[in-house]
Amino acid sequence: MNLLRALPAVDVLLTDESVSALIAEYGRPLVLDATRLILNEIRRNAAPNQSIPEKQELVERITDRLKTWLAPSLIPLINATGVILHTNLGRAPLSEAAQQAMLAAAGGYSSLEFDLTNGKRGLRSAHAERLLVKLTGAEAALVVNNNAAALMLALSALTRRKKVVISRTQLVEVGGSFRIPDVLSQSGARLMEIGATNRVHLSDYRQAVEDGAAAILHAHHSNFRISGFTSEPGLDELAELAKKSNVLLIEDLGSGALLNTEAYGLEHEPTVQEAVSGGADLVCFSGDKLLGGPQAGIIVGKKSLLQKLAHHPLARAVRADKLCLASLMATLLHYLKDEAEQKIPVWKMISTSPLQIKERAERWRCELGKGEVIEDFSTIGGGSLPGQNLPTFVLALTVKQPDRWLKDLRCLNVPIIARIDNERLLFDPRCVMEKEENILLSQLKELSF
Ligand SMILES: *Cc1c(COP(=O)(O)O)cnc(C)c1O
Repeated sequence: MNLLRALPAVDVLLTDESVSALIAEYGRPLVLDATRLILNEIRRNAAPNQSIPEKQELVERITDRLKTWLAPSLIPLINATGVILHTNLGRAPLSEAAQQAMLAAAGGYSSLEFDLTNGKRGLRSAHAERLLVKLTGAEAALVVNNNAAALMLALSALTRRKKVVISRTQLVEVGGSFRIPDVLSQSGARLMEIGATNRVHLSDYRQAVEDGAAAILHAHHSNFRISGFTSEPGLDELAELAKKSNVLLIEDLGSGALLNTEAYGLEHEPTVQEAVSGGADLVCFSGDKLLGGPQAGIIVGKKSLLQKLAHHPLARAVRADKLCLASLMATLLHYLKDEAEQKIPVWKMISTSPLQIKERAERWRCELGKGEVIEDFSTIGGGSLPGQNLPTFVLALTVKQPDRWLKDLRCLNVPIIARIDNERLLFDPRCVMEKEENILLSQLKELSF
């Protein structure tokens, strides 16, 4: 054990030239911390008569430790999966204008809660509300942290200790253990389940209202489909019942499309405008699904109800931040200016024709000098339009052990996320942005598939 005596003391090591360089880069406290840890580990693990690492090796170990500690974990990557709203990959990428707006709000002060006309305190919620009202035809709007928060706030503020009716066809888990029935009970509302798993009728709702329901929660099937012997009353029928019986109708739309998805060869996804004109009192949806903006929960509907929501204590806990509001407004402007399809990345991806994608895949194949271009399908993802596909073309590489390749692709400087099908690696150009194409190809060229 006496060999350990050869180990340099911490302060001696810190004066070493290469360690000083580390201090200049990482700061003294971290380097001190790493140095102590490494020396302790050596002391603890040393076997009798084992030689002690040279100084150079010590410095290397310290450097490695510092790098591990500080390595960024949230890093940009290339989505070659063809899943447009990939929840694990951050859902919607923002438009140029939305990024600019976010930067502008981030780097300085802003009129976030300041009324420039009278110099007094202004309302944070006023900013996006103006645009949302214009776009959706609703009386009022409120933006919060995400749609889960929107739903929680709406139910907590309006239906606490009251009965809320929801159909068993809609008792869904949205993902990440976020279940509609749990949100209901967390908000203090009393859940009233009606109907069967596959069918619910207007008469079930009518009965529930007679039994004292104060609100109807209608949740859009955003991430699953029920097919076969199924039926649900339409929103308009529910709205009529709600109005006649003086109960609230809350619509959880999920993805919140503002454009007509049918124009892109997809099934009809109910739009926010339809839910508002269809008579829902409140409509909740996400900002980063089909809207194509930042993470946000948006609630539009009756002014009197939204005022109650805005004054509920939970509203403060789930409020949207300035970066979110800035980029959301820039995104909404694209819709108002009728340029969403050209400017908002998710709509650009949805509207790209298979032929355009085929050309890109062919170009990739030529550049790489391998693989083949085959027909396949992209998906919307993000719990939107389940089971619906967009025809696409992918570059397919036949490799041994595709799983291992998938892992290697994930470990690149700019990770590339691909798919496997039939022992082939598939790269779908649909979600790969033009600015990413060079780095994608140069990295792929380095790998010897
Ligand atoms: C996605 C989704 C939510 C949750 O929205 P987040 O913005 O992810 O919180 C809630 N309800 C429905 C129907 C959804 O599709």
